[in-house]
Amino acid sequence: MTKTTATQPNKSILPAYVDIDKWADQGYHWQGNLQVANFKRLAEVISQSAESVAPLSFSISRTGGVYWFEFTVTAEVESQCQRCLQPMTLTLNKQVKLAILENEEQASQLTEDDDWILIEDVVEIVGREIRLPIASVIEDELLLEIPLSPKHEINDKDCVPVDFIEDDEEEEAEGEKENPFAILAGLKGKS
Ligand SMILES: [Zn+2]
Repeated sequence: MTKTTATQPNKSILPAYVDIDKWADQGYHWQGNLQVANFKRLAEVISQSAESVAPLSFSISRTGGVYWFEFTVTAEVESQCQRCLQPMTLTLNKQVKLAILENEEQASQLTEDDDWILIEDVVEIVGREIRLPIASVIEDELLLEIPLSPKHEINDKDCVPVDFIEDDEEEEAEGEKENPFAILAGLKGKS
């Protein structure tokens, strides 16, 4: 028989969820690395490199009846620069302190700067457990960090715009209407 104690579960693996009702009062802290590839929705919008890991730490606590989910995550993901169309690494840095409220009235306990979310919108209640899906909430926040049109730094010398193809097309289209040589030829004809 293995003696079971109220210690936190295996901390080397990110738990799929944390029962916030069970852990919030004594505090729950996790620190480790997780595979970026585990973020399925993130993987849909980026070309991820499977090996890249995201250092992550999070904690769950409760203050005055309000649950707090705090986390810090850094994820390097592969994307494509929209100026030069070359691959580029995006570093997503997120430091979040999120209040999880049982009702909107609890928002009065927060300061204006506090971010909050309603418990019913984020947890899954199974029996007496209030399961907070850790990775999913973190992934939501990381998705917000991805720019719609990622680009290298403006002074990156290797970032050569490839929009000349579009420009050529534009010039051709314009040329049909107003070809500078045609105008020149017209002027010559008049003289
Ligand atoms: Zn670029």
